[in-house]
Amino acid sequence: MTTDSRPDARKRILTGVRPTGSLHLGHYVGALENWIRLQREYECFFLIADFQVSDHADDISQVRGNVLEVATDWLAVGLDPEGSHFQIESLVPQHAELTTWLSWWVPLGMLQRNPTLKAEMGNLEGDSVPVAFFNYPMMQASNILMPKAHLVPVGEDQLPHIELTREIARRFNRIFKTDLFPEPEALLGRVARLVGVDGNAKMSKSLNNAIYLKDDADTVTKKVRGMFTDPTRLRATDPGHVEGNPVFMYHDAFNPNVEEVDDLKARYVTGTVGDVEVKQKLAIALNNFLDPIRERRAYYEAHPREVLDALAAGTAHANKVADETMRQVRDAMGLNYLA
Ligand code: ATP
Ligand code: MG
Repeated sequence: MTTDSRPDARKRILTGVRPTGSLHLGHYVGALENWIRLQREYECFFLIADFQVSDHADDISQVRGNVLEVATDWLAVGLDPEGSHFQIESLVPQHAELTTWLSWWVPLGMLQRNPTLKAEMGNLEGDSVPVAFFNYPMMQASNILMPKAHLVPVGEDQLPHIELTREIARRFNRIFKTDLFPEPEALLGRVARLVGVDGNAKMSKSLNNAIYLKDDADTVTKKVRGMFTDPTRLRATDPGHVEGNPVFMYHDAFNPNVEEVDDLKARYVTGTVGDVEVKQKLAIALNNFLDPIRERRAYYEAHPREVLDALAAGTAHANKVADETMRQVRDAMGLNYLA
């Protein structure tokens, strides 16, 4: 019943990011790297989730600029808007429509038990949590199901949301005896969860512990100099710990010179290299990694029209896909009243 009359025969990817700021190294190794690698093999829908930033309700004026920041970062890392579709979530309002229908079959308890949601809720009082906060994983399920995506390349923090999406797809298909929605698979990045410069378990825009893809070389060097390292090591001659040390985790993730990294590790555990040298070498490696990204970013900053055009074209395409899916959803539910 899901004969798809679409011209592009590739399987689909849907993935995205919240417009809460610029993109950082965690996004790169956790997600973007896979997006770049897979963008030819899959038909990709890259989504900027502006319905999902209710934690920014008090500073909504930031959202517009953040949407453009994200799209500029995407172009800077080499995502190609010709072969894939950049979309702004709220300009494809069918997402809200699908969320409304799907929420019929999702008990609140399922969201309350979601570990990522619990962590993000942090110390918000239970009864002051906005309804939109519980809605956001539902919205994400709609994002993924709308183009019937097969694959969702994301960081580890998103796994509970993908599981929720699979459950919702199963329920819908079972209830309406259809195979409309495929159960999407998650794909984790090379580093499923990159730690923050402060040693916090996750580099995150909201935790203010990130090295941004657009940071200039001096900023990166300063951030690296101030990085959390082995807290048990007081002098450069003390034997240090490599395991669990953010500075070495970043070396492993971003320094292509494996010999240098192995040498630094060997000297670190024997107390024959100081944190200063380890950090200096990391700053150099990171700046080498970021240079081409910065260069492409400068081009798009000088050509903002190209950024808007990419968003407009992708959003228009996503609208068409969403119309077709919503028609099929209504057909399956027997609610295509006027057809
Ligand atoms: P916010 O704090 O505003 O939620 P964020 O930094 O968590 O921002 P998101 O927009 O929530 O960014 O996440 C976008 C994508 O990047 C998701 O797939 C997420 O799993 C991934 N991601 C974000 N931070 C990291 C990280 N530190 N390590 C690996 N992947 C990450
Ligand atoms: Mg997040």
